[in-house]
Amino acid sequence: MAKLEFPQKGIPRKEILSTMQSMKKDDSDWKHGRMFSLIFNAGEDVARVAEEAYAAFMVENGLSPFAFPSLLKMETEVASMMADLLGGDENTVGNMTSGGSESIMVAVKAARDYARAKTPQITQPELLMPLSAHPAFNKAAHYLGLKTVIVPTDKKTLMANVGAMRNAITQNTIMMVGSAPSYPHGIIDPIADLAEIAREKEIWMHVDACVGGLDLPFIEKLGYPIPNFDFRIPGVCSMTADIHKYGFTPKGASVVLYRSSELRQFQIFAYTDWPGGVYATPNVSGSRPGGPIASAWATIKYLGTEGYMKLVKMSIEATRRIIEEIRTIPELYVLSEPLSTVFAIGSDVLNIFALGEKMKEYHWYIDSQHLPPCLHMTISPVHAGITEQFITDLRSAVKDVAKLRPEDITGEAALYGMIGSMPDRGMAKDFAVQFMNDLYRVH
Ligand SMILES: *Cc1c(COP(=O)(O)O)cnc(C)c1O
Repeated sequence: MAKLEFPQKGIPRKEILSTMQSMKKDDSDWKHGRMFSLIFNAGEDVARVAEEAYAAFMVENGLSPFAFPSLLKMETEVASMMADLLGGDENTVGNMTSGGSESIMVAVKAARDYARAKTPQITQPELLMPLSAHPAFNKAAHYLGLKTVIVPTDKKTLMANVGAMRNAITQNTIMMVGSAPSYPHGIIDPIADLAEIAREKEIWMHVDACVGGLDLPFIEKLGYPIPNFDFRIPGVCSMTADIHKYGFTPKGASVVLYRSSELRQFQIFAYTDWPGGVYATPNVSGSRPGGPIASAWATIKYLGTEGYMKLVKMSIEATRRIIEEIRTIPELYVLSEPLSTVFAIGSDVLNIFALGEKMKEYHWYIDSQHLPPCLHMTISPVHAGITEQFITDLRSAVKDVAKLRPEDITGEAALYGMIGSMPDRGMAKDFAVQFMNDLYRVH
């Protein structure tokens, strides 16, 4: 018998909902801006529009553009509006997917199948990426049978190292990746330089703007310096941008864009000999929820450039303010020179994971990162209202942690330090797999 029996009798609606509400009691408090990852919070009014649009199309299935032309219209319009925002033109095409990972998966598939068609002599295709690129590329390469070639980032700037990337190109390189910005440290890679090399070597260049796609364009419009990172650069073949991040819509919404439909055709999978009919789909998933498509369309229409600029102004000003204060705390530093609303905090003298743990006592939840050890900060508009409290608490927590002895550092801080410093990376991976394997069962 399983740990939990399949229920015999139904339970009344009210009871179910109240049970679920009580399940939330241990969840992180995102509503009040106490987290710096996972949630992108633009406040109540935006959430309401997204929620209503989501509910209105919750049941419709994006798998069939013929049954639900409304979803086809909204999806293609979202892709087109995003193309406009990201320097595309009338030839730029795209699709919506369930998230950054799926967008990346299908972009890598498109690049792989493009290479298969154009350069069939390549039998061991390689995906060239800086160390800071998102693991969704490692995952896509793993699923799709590509070899990853991972190039260390520049020690000082944490940007993709252009010279080293060039040197790592082989006869088998079919795709090159840059981030705008990278998730861990919020650093924009030198996309123009990378794209030029890619063009010269006839390699597919992809820009991952999953977190930056609806952030950088508005920061730039506000007058902050942002280097070109999008389709304005000639060698860029494809881009990914998540609407469920700085687009402020519920999870399940991202776009993948291509310079032309000639490139996009390689994304699409078709099987025509199935008794169920002709089966053709651009996505990894088959059935696709209408909710995320509808809420993405509605939120973009509701906010428009002016609405997004107002929100991004709040988050970029909060970011600048927090960074400015961190730079006055001698024990801490900000990694490299982040230009957007994503950055990381490091220290040469304190155990940074212990600082993250200490901040929990002040009710702030900050993700730990390693290689090098640091804390991750993704700033949302809602953080504008709590910036000063955060700074005050951070200063206190730094003082608390400075007093700790090494043996005082336990719990998650110690665990994180351990996985990061395991010399055998295979062992670290096995540990992570077994941890997840054990976690996902009813205890
Ligand atoms: C979030 C993110 C991804 C992955 O997106 P998911 O929606 O979590 O699948 C990929 N790249 C970057 C730069 C990201 O920030």
